Amino acid sequence: MAAKETPMMRQYRHIKKELSEDTILFFRLGDFYEMFYEDAQRAAPILDIALTKRNQVPMCGIPFHQLDSYLAKMIRAGRKVAICDQVEDPATAKGIVRREVTRVVTPGTVLEEHVLDANRNNYLAALAQDRDILGVALLDLSTGEFWVEESPDPDALRDVLIRLAPSECILSETFAENPQMLANFDRGGDMVFSPQEDWIFHRDVAVDHLTRHFDVASLDGFGCDGCSAGIDAAGGILHYVGESLRRHTGHVRTLRVRQPSGYLLLDETTVANLDLVPPVQSGGDRPKPNLLQVLDATRTPMGGRLLRHWLLRPLRDLPALQRRHAAVDVLVKRREALHDLREELSGIRDMERLIARLGTGSANARDLRALGVSLAALPPLCERLESFDAANLRDCREGIDGLPDLTRRIEEAIDDEPPATVREGGLIRSGFHVELDELREAATAGRQWLASFQSAEQERTGIKSLKVRFNKVFGYYIEVTQSNLNLVPDDYLRKQTLTNAERFITPELKEMENKILGAQDRARDLEYVIFQEVRAEVTMETGRIQESAAAVAEVDVLAALADRALGLRYVRPEMDESAVLDIREGRHPVVEQIPDADAFVPNDAHLDTLENQLLILTGPNMAGKSTYIRQVALIVIMAHVGSFVPAAQARIGRVDRVFTRVGASDDLARGRSTFMVEMQETANILHNATPRSLVVLDEIGRGTSTFDGISIAWAVAEYLHNHTPVKAKTLFATHYHELTDLTVTLPGAKNYSVLVRESGERIVFLRKIAEGAADKSYGIQVARLAGLPEGVVDRAREILTNLEEGEFQEDRQPTLAKSPRREPIDENQLPLF
Ligand code: ADP
Ligand code: MG
Repeated sequence: MAAKETPMMRQYRHIKKELSEDTILFFRLGDFYEMFYEDAQRAAPILDIALTKRNQVPMCGIPFHQLDSYLAKMIRAGRKVAICDQVEDPATAKGIVRREVTRVVTPGTVLEEHVLDANRNNYLAALAQDRDILGVALLDLSTGEFWVEESPDPDALRDVLIRLAPSECILSETFAENPQMLANFDRGGDMVFSPQEDWIFHRDVAVDHLTRHFDVASLDGFGCDGCSAGIDAAGGILHYVGESLRRHTGHVRTLRVRQPSGYLLLDETTVANLDLVPPVQSGGDRPKPNLLQVLDATRTPMGGRLLRHWLLRPLRDLPALQRRHAAVDVLVKRREALHDLREELSGIRDMERLIARLGTGSANARDLRALGVSLAALPPLCERLESFDAANLRDCREGIDGLPDLTRRIEEAIDDEPPATVREGGLIRSGFHVELDELREAATAGRQWLASFQSAEQERTGIKSLKVRFNKVFGYYIEVTQSNLNLVPDDYLRKQTLTNAERFITPELKEMENKILGAQDRARDLEYVIFQEVRAEVTMETGRIQESAAAVAEVDVLAALADRALGLRYVRPEMDESAVLDIREGRHPVVEQIPDADAFVPNDAHLDTLENQLLILTGPNMAGKSTYIRQVALIVIMAHVGSFVPAAQARIGRVDRVFTRVGASDDLARGRSTFMVEMQETANILHNATPRSLVVLDEIGRGTSTFDGISIAWAVAEYLHNHTPVKAKTLFATHYHELTDLTVTLPGAKNYSVLVRESGERIVFLRKIAEGAADKSYGIQVARLAGLPEGVVDRAREILTNLEEGEFQEDRQPTLAKSPRREPIDENQLPLF
């Protein structure tokens, strides 16, 4: 039978009952946070601490001053933790100490610096649905960034979630119970789902919550008029964070509405195939080389996060893009000035996260100091910006507010090297506060008195080794070694005996101790009060600091792009509303950076919606097909980010979406590729591509038998070419030599191949793309190189000849083009029998 429940356990149960089942309760008991029952069993292995038992109750605990590091472990393991503190002084409490949950930390709301990745936003997402409209809201509590997006298309929102990889997602319980909806969004990855009661997503509740939070009469000012499910999601998030988790949300100052139509759309597969950013879970080994890595020369964490954002959300708006290019251009043209500007940026710390931490009260004086240093770096930055003549840079300069008064205030108040703790003193500079200075002097004078007291006592007693010391238990005391005990005078009061010394006090010493410690205590308390005052002054300016931080981030990204453009020999792309892509001497931005690779061979590309709509690229394995078609897609995306591009010259007609698909067997590393996935992805392109889209298909059809594969590839190519709403510009790499016959019947199709040279037994890869079909697939040459017996190679050649003879019908139509339902496309071009 269980022992009778103590009042404290009753309190524990009461608090625990208010929390969601998956939340682990850290229960403050003296100097420890304790966990009990199942919480203890779940937490002990994660925290790597011992699980013990008292009165049959499993429990484990952590020292309170190590809360941060243990909290970090729990969050990294995807857990939610409620921190329950003693909210009254145990010394004065009557009966049991009152305890309350002071905050709940979840993966999507963590602020601890060492859990967060400086270069990535940590998003909490909310999903909501209003009839056929789906809404997603995203909040980065660590920076205050908050926005919503709506769409009738679950795929579009799923792509948002995939790209931004929120660590936690909330949704209504009803929504969560709908298996189909959940299947749409649950990627089985790191994202923790936290279902919430339905009512927090109700429109009235959400609107009420949002208008109260932003202190506005209506949400129209945020561009939310016409929004539905997005508002529900946004309201739900604020409720969850503010009420359920009891977290500070004061630094969340605006809500933005994103229009998917404003961005060049990149779906999940495309982002992964093109290696735009490192994968979220890169496992133990080094992440695959990726575009972000090549371009990220940013100097601030805000810049790093923004660049990532830009890469995943290229713009569709031509004037906006041209402004970005113009800004990069003026920076590129002044190498020295650019260098100086970037030096200035290096002094700026993570202002966004600093202000967020200051707002939540979890910041220390070091954070305040770091913010002060960053603010102090702003005026010189603005001065440097003045000399660059570009609209975006001008806007940034205007957006940066140096807040000189505040900067001076922090500089004057906060010590150069304050400690990490805020209640132990050492935060405030001397000379800042008269009373504090007096208390400190009193303490100093006291310590000087102690020094002279020690020498006076040494003299009086004749004990040379006599020492005045201090510890937390006894305060100040006199220590005398064993051998000198006979010299100790009568007025010394014995306090403690050690093995080879004894400790004494005198009334005089105790009196001084009171003075010193009193002054120190009061000084410490006063320092904390002053610190809080300065902190409050700073957080009053949260909005302006956030705006400055955003402007700094943009300057940083533009300067980084300029730096890379110079260092990697990129050119400014010429962009227009045409349907033309014309790239001269283009390079693959990532492959060309791989050390020890052969010198990269540049290649041209020309696509339009007329005669060059569908490029069929053939060539042997390893020739460079995949690299080439990806390089075209990457150059197009980089241009839409605002970056310069790796080419000698580029004209890029605006694009609305980029699709890339890779045939199944090329994709096995990702472990989830089946022919089914390949076909689903292909279907998705055929449904969604427009004449403004760029489609990159790499060995589509490879995941099944040859005949099936060729047939499907052929039909897909025909559809992309003929079907009026699609007619997307398409690059199709294939080792199915048969597909080159497509050009006979499709006027917009062109054959290209990657050149190889045969020299005796060997083939040499020239990496050069040329017009015309590959005359053969070279598979047999490669097979011979690999050491297949001569007889096998010869026999393969014979069979190949047989197969190739059957390729054309008597009417000179490619066999594969024949259709009982359809006449040949252009009778005039074909000889009649
Ligand atoms: P394919 O798709 O035709 O089998 P890949 O595109 O995978 O060939 O290229 C094979 C290798 O050739 C790549 O690993 C790359 O390093 C190299 N390569 C490709 N294109 C070039 C190029 N233009 N210049 C230099 N090396 C290249
Ligand atoms: Mg390939």
